[in-house]
Amino acid sequence: MGWNEIKRSPFKKVNDERYHITLIVRCSKIRTPNTYTNSSVPVPLFGTRHSLANLNLYIWGTHTLHPMTDIEYIRNLRTPSTEDPLRLLMSACFTGIVCGFDNQAYADYPTIIQLLKYDKIKVSRFCPEDFSFGTPRRLCDIHGGDGFDVLNGKAKVLTEEGDDWTAGMIEGAKKMLEVAQKNNVELCVLMDVSAACGSQVIYEGMRRAENPVYQVGAGVAAALLIRNGYKVISQRDYASMEALYHKLNPAHTVNPDAIDHLQHPWCKEHFGI
Ligand code: SF4
Repeated sequence: MGWNEIKRSPFKKVNDERYHITLIVRCSKIRTPNTYTNSSVPVPLFGTRHSLANLNLYIWGTHTLHPMTDIEYIRNLRTPSTEDPLRLLMSACFTGIVCGFDNQAYADYPTIIQLLKYDKIKVSRFCPEDFSFGTPRRLCDIHGGDGFDVLNGKAKVLTEEGDDWTAGMIEGAKKMLEVAQKNNVELCVLMDVSAACGSQVIYEGMRRAENPVYQVGAGVAAALLIRNGYKVISQRDYASMEALYHKLNPAHTVNPDAIDHLQHPWCKEHFGI
């Protein structure tokens, strides 16, 4: 779809969870307001204006972003020891626990494999979806916003079959927050893209749709953790991971070329950030 950005407002901080930018985009191929799809425009679209003069369709909307990873926070963490290890909360599937919807563990991410080798960490592991729905289970995604919107009652979590799993996802998120609080967690390392654990990029609507739509945002559990002051990074936040490795072993040489997920050229181009 040939979307062209016409105008963009500066980023404006709304609160600790949100930044707004307003976009106006145009697609000359669209003739009526009812026929557009926004698969390449990751914004909730609030309005349309049909210009009869040139048959262009103008669409404007507000794009909300939550703050990106906080690498300074990781650099400023205390120096852990084997006696007093760094307290991490991790998506359980990362750590080899079979809790994926498809009855799998997702323990093969190199960044996570390396992290788990350090002896100066104490890992609390939890799967919010397994807590509420068991394993295996159906696949679910957020519709109408991100995890913050779900917590605010403005978006829903639906299975592929259309069943509403919103309440269970919020319950799982609350239990994960409880685990973080009980263990006095200092940093959360969660699986990106998950409707529960995602922290940088998640789907808007079903991931197995013909034209899946990505959005910058957090899953429900990650959003609740962030809202309660916890810092979250994902397996793809390579710069943050490098800072974490250095914290766990000062002899680790930080790769200066490492970037976090939202700094990746694909994200920059796709999301316009
Ligand atoms: S909900 Fe989180 S911990 Fe559970 S399988 Fe999905 S990503 Fe892993």
